[in-house]
Amino acid sequence: MSKLHKDIEKNRDFEGGIRSEYKSFYKQVKGNEGDKCKYSIRLDTYGCGCQHNCDYCYARSLLSFRGFWNPSEPSIADIAKIKRKIQKIPQGTIIRMGGMTDCFQPYEAEHHVTYETIKEMNRCGIGYLIVTKSHMIAQPKYVEILDKSLAHIQITVTTLNDVMALTYEKASIPTKRIEAIRKLQDGGYDVSIRLSPLIEEFMDFNTLNSLGIKRCVVEFLRVNSWIKRWLQGVDFSRYSLKQGGYVHLPLEDKLAILKKIKIPEVTVCEDVTEHYEFWRDNFNPNRDDCCNLKIFNER
Ligand code: SF4
Repeated sequence: MSKLHKDIEKNRDFEGGIRSEYKSFYKQVKGNEGDKCKYSIRLDTYGCGCQHNCDYCYARSLLSFRGFWNPSEPSIADIAKIKRKIQKIPQGTIIRMGGMTDCFQPYEAEHHVTYETIKEMNRCGIGYLIVTKSHMIAQPKYVEILDKSLAHIQITVTTLNDVMALTYEKASIPTKRIEAIRKLQDGGYDVSIRLSPLIEEFMDFNTLNSLGIKRCVVEFLRVNSWIKRWLQGVDFSRYSLKQGGYVHLPLEDKLAILKKIKIPEVTVCEDVTEHYEFWRDNFNPNRDDCCNLKIFNER
């Protein structure tokens, strides 16, 4: 049984449904992803479903086939347990939040688990890399508690077309996400636009390049049979490279797409081993960190 499935089993109740408590909120990612990612410790405040329910979501595709994906009622981690876990993490560690499900999905407005988690990480001196498709992070309540020396934020965008986005992801509209990035950027936070997945057909590169955003993380689409079935409007015939249970674009196609991005700092987060090595050695601004986080040392 895979680690993911063991985690899911831990969250099941005796009738076979999903508990409302998300118990597997803390994980060290291993294997292909863990070997490549500098931020392999993940903390997810909500799990077993994400209200954004994106049609290209890898977590959704992995959990759906066993009936473990519940986008309308995700499970919620217990903040008391999260705090106990954080208190044991060495100072200076950077934890990724939102690696499995979005920690700023609409549930957060009701349950505030992410809010309380950030406050505890501040108290304990633990860094946090937040990856989200929500503009909620730039609302005053959250900006007030974001510690500039600990917070790293990547706001994900897949298209700049608000109407189109709503057809395949139930997250904040892109206009609001862009506003959030600009607000955090103007406020001096370490913030990037994350094009994840970057799908050439969905992106208006001229508009993207005119937004005044300074930092960008790219992650190309990888496709399995579920994503192929759910996601419309993509030319899947271009995805010809097989690796790790997915099909990917060839490197030449990725390079041609990257040329269209004119943002000052662009870095690529990559799954395909040979491509990962290529970006690390020839493209990324920081060969030791494909997320290219800005580390402030003034704490
Ligand atoms: S926001 Fe992220 S975790 Fe949530 S459904 Fe979309 S891709 Fe999956």
